[in-house]
Amino acid sequence: MQTVGTDIQLPKDLYLEATSRCNLRCKGCILFNGGWEPQRDLSLIELIMICDQLPVLSRVALHGIGEPLLNDELPGMIRYLKDRKASVFLNSNGTLLNERRGNQLLDAGLDELRISLDAASPAGYKAVRNSDEFHRVVANVRAFSKHIKSMHLPCPKLSLWFLGTRENISELPDFVRLAASLGVAEVYLQRLVYFQDDQGYGLAKSEKTLMGSDAAITGWINESHAIAEQSGVRFNAPGFASPFDSLQARTGNPFPWRKCYRPHTLMYITAGGNVLPCCISPFAVSNYGSIILGNVFYRSLSEIWSGSRYRIFREKRQTQTPPECCRGCGTLWSL
Ligand code: SF4
Ligand code: SF4
Repeated sequence: MQTVGTDIQLPKDLYLEATSRCNLRCKGCILFNGGWEPQRDLSLIELIMICDQLPVLSRVALHGIGEPLLNDELPGMIRYLKDRKASVFLNSNGTLLNERRGNQLLDAGLDELRISLDAASPAGYKAVRNSDEFHRVVANVRAFSKHIKSMHLPCPKLSLWFLGTRENISELPDFVRLAASLGVAEVYLQRLVYFQDDQGYGLAKSEKTLMGSDAAITGWINESHAIAEQSGVRFNAPGFASPFDSLQARTGNPFPWRKCYRPHTLMYITAGGNVLPCCISPFAVSNYGSIILGNVFYRSLSEIWSGSRYRIFREKRQTQTPPECCRGCGTLWSL
């Protein structure tokens, strides 16, 4: 078992949940299940209090469970983090990405904006995102992408994200076509995360996953690759995996979670101040208390980082019986 000392280097990467509020209730999201935490925004002062405890910041995500554009202090947060020389990115559902908010993100210096869309049609959007806002999001992305290009701006880098489930995978080829038509250069296929210790909710259920893909699913992924290549769109998956490999449950390694570096390199902090080991964990267990490693409103970051809860989590992750949240992780997709 790997021993973790109390002097483990503080993280340089943070996930900071700008808000736990959202204007959607997607069927694959914990908010569809009622959510884990009271709804609130992280304030700029709280963000500074957290970040000032870290001497070096490399990369900061300003998203978690919630829609970051709902937080009016978001531009100020981005500006503060850019002054700290961090690379700043966020996921958004894109419904609120109007001209004013788009300009605020550009002026603040956002490095990367990821739009979660999950569908290539209004019906597909409704099936996964539980909303009729498909056309609005597409129009927002089109206008924002056009504006970035017209200004010859190097950032933010823009991408479209597709949570792959058995409900929507047939739309993936058209999704890549849509990205090309919107001038978006990157598409990501994201694997469904669901409770490892419970039957789940909405679309977040084991039977909706694409894992162990059949011939039809493989065909849609291959077709999407071909369309991406023809249209100059990069077709990716999070982590180090190709889209197809990211859907594989296991990689020949019976204990893939041992290679996960997240509990050693980053902290995920919710709008309520709770520290979690990663952004996957809140979707992976029904026992939320089991993944809370401390709260930054009550203890310092370094106390939490070197505290007993983190130490036990890291040690357990090196065993054959890791924390429940890690059991659905594969090295290829989670890293
Ligand atoms: S997935 Fe994102 S947009 Fe959908 S309900 Fe959850 S936080 Fe909101
Ligand atoms: S849930 Fe997955 S990504 Fe998170 S700490 Fe465990 S193995 Fe790593």
